[in-house]
Amino acid sequence: MSSASPLSKSQYLRGLQCRKSLWLYRNRKDLLPETPPSLQMIFDQGHEVGKLAWKRFPEGVLIEADHLHPEDALQATAAAAKSGANVLYEAAALFDRVLIRADILARNDAQTWDMVEVKSSADIKDVYLHDLAIQRHVLEGAGFPIGKTFLMHINTDYVRLGGIDAGSFFTLRDLTEEIKGLIKSVPEKVRLFQATAALDSAPEIDIGPHCSAPYDCEFTGHCWRHIPGYSVYDVVRISGAKVAALRGLGILEIKDIPDGFALSDAQRLQVLVEKSGRPHVDAPEIAGLLNELEYPLHFLDFETVNPAIPPYDGLRPFQQIPFQASLHLLMSPGAPLQHMDFLGDGKADPREGLAAWLAGAIGAAGAVIAYNAAFEGRCLKDLAQAFPARGPALESIQARLWDIAAPFRKGLYVHPGFRGSWSMKSVLPALAPGMSYANLAIADGAQAQSAYLRMMRGDLSQEAAQETRRALREYCGQDTLGMVEILRRLEEIGGGREF
Ligand code: SF4
Repeated sequence: MSSASPLSKSQYLRGLQCRKSLWLYRNRKDLLPETPPSLQMIFDQGHEVGKLAWKRFPEGVLIEADHLHPEDALQATAAAAKSGANVLYEAAALFDRVLIRADILARNDAQTWDMVEVKSSADIKDVYLHDLAIQRHVLEGAGFPIGKTFLMHINTDYVRLGGIDAGSFFTLRDLTEEIKGLIKSVPEKVRLFQATAALDSAPEIDIGPHCSAPYDCEFTGHCWRHIPGYSVYDVVRISGAKVAALRGLGILEIKDIPDGFALSDAQRLQVLVEKSGRPHVDAPEIAGLLNELEYPLHFLDFETVNPAIPPYDGLRPFQQIPFQASLHLLMSPGAPLQHMDFLGDGKADPREGLAAWLAGAIGAAGAVIAYNAAFEGRCLKDLAQAFPARGPALESIQARLWDIAAPFRKGLYVHPGFRGSWSMKSVLPALAPGMSYANLAIADGAQAQSAYLRMMRGDLSQEAAQETRRALREYCGQDTLGMVEILRRLEEIGGGREF
């Protein structure tokens, strides 16, 4: 795209986050990384929600020309409005050298248009107000008199029963008054961003918190390339002010942070471990936690999806749907390790089958070990509510949950290899080298989610679906086997009991 082409709405919002990002997007598209599956999943979900929103304002005219054909879109919009259409989807408007596409324009009784921006989100965010402001500025400038400005987001109290009722699935918020002040500042910002886009080189803007707020910037691989893989930015919960102070001292590496620099206890521990190269281990506290464990030991992990549009009855928007479980079982110290798992078929609601499987696979006694167990606890509680016949068994499992992440989250065991994180993906390779996720076809929860969503949509060939099932089972099994190895390591340092 040449520097003279109009700004889009998303480029305007990009400029608000970081003008360097805007310049790079306009001038260095070659630096954009491939869209990861997890982000593509969010885009796809947004499109589905956008289409569902049309049912809330039915019988509209869709302006079909895509972003590569803006002239066609502008002409089609003008023609549809002139022909008396009462509702327009994806209407195009150009003003002030900014091109926008409005999700929904609906004629109101006053014969002006109400503008509706649809968000696949549970609530209002600040950036949405700017989104509305730039659209209203352009639409009015382009000759669409606008009455009210609405944001339509998802009502998370909605519970699906039968088909989706678009009337109650969405919440319509009138933000006409809230954006009035913002609209006044739009022309000045537009001029600034157009001037930025036309610069010969990127504006000098340092990295900082704006690189991930309100959105993760795609250019971090470019702008952060001089930052070490493990740096002052990775100190746990460090404030932007403290990072700036350290950068001001010319410090990037954690090992270079001066001893007297003000840090929280957890931060100081992380820095000490990095400087010494040796783990911090509170063996008595860890032993105390381990003493709570009773055999048989069940190592349990769920994989879930949480689509915006609930696919089955009884579900709310964004509710976690466990579709897979892996269970490693150790009946007694030294006994052979057993493994079993459950995986939904992607066609039907997996929850009832999973609830029955859990009730059968996990007996009435013994600890149920999970990594960050609060999540598994919420899933079990939801399953018990949805399938009361399984309630007693599921509540018993929930009551016996034991969180194997606790020693790491509480700072009882801090290893330099954790690099400031207590996630399993950081802890496991440090404690059990060789048990890395690096070579798995599905290597993290986001990939597992997008894989199962593809199975749900039925857009995989039979072979691809089979391979996806294999990869999902391998990934989830790795999580529970990893917990076994982590517990083995904790037992070695926290008491040395037979395991
Ligand atoms: S990575 Fe940060 S500094 Fe670089 S363009 Fe993105 S937001 Fe701006």
